[in-house]
Amino acid sequence: FFITFEGGEGAGKSTQIEWLAQRLRHLGRAVVVTREPGGSPGAEAVRHVLLSGAAEPFGPKVEAMLFAAARADHVDTVIRPGVDAGKVVLCDRYLDSSRVYQGMTGGLDADFMRELETTAVDGMLPDLTLVLDLDPKLGLTRANQRRGSNQADRFEKEALAIHRDRRKGFLSIAEAEPERCVVIDASKDVELTSELIWGALEERLPS
Ligand code: C5P
Repeated sequence: FFITFEGGEGAGKSTQIEWLAQRLRHLGRAVVVTREPGGSPGAEAVRHVLLSGAAEPFGPKVEAMLFAAARADHVDTVIRPGVDAGKVVLCDRYLDSSRVYQGMTGGLDADFMRELETTAVDGMLPDLTLVLDLDPKLGLTRANQRRGSNQADRFEKEALAIHRDRRKGFLSIAEAEPERCVVIDASKDVELTSELIWGALEERLPS
């Protein structure tokens, strides 16, 4: 079973993933926790290039191809083997982040993005996508508290308007694919958010 977590900065994805992983392990489930960009040795190397600013000279199109290359390796070496072994795979960001960050709000052509997605994902679609939703202003405050505002990576230093557009992007995907996506109110405290997530998962997870 393959679950992806999506949403803007400071939505609490990594905390919620850790909580959910613990809860599932208590129930005797084998769980794999992973993230994008990254999640496998090859993809983590690409992540470093992307987030350090070293990919800036390439421009957005090649950058999107690097995200896709990282995803292809991650799918082949971590996600598909985990799902095939009957594990619950929890992934922090996946194809919807590319659709939103590089596609909808990154100015890249929709057909190009679809082709990249198809190649990278290679049929490995999430069984459930949890969209952690909150006002970007609150999310950015949280993200800055977590890292120290001067440590924000290059994607987090962007204007509030683009974060609002991304929020709309994630919500529009969730609206278009209601069988895959559940929107979770992530503005409340960690416990409450984790209960909303559990509620969404309980009815879908095969026993
Ligand atoms: O989830 P996390 O904050 O670790 O992601 C790292 C950064 O990579 C995010 O701040 C996000 O802005 C960026 N990103 C992106 N396109 C993706 C995935 C992540 O721009 N497809």
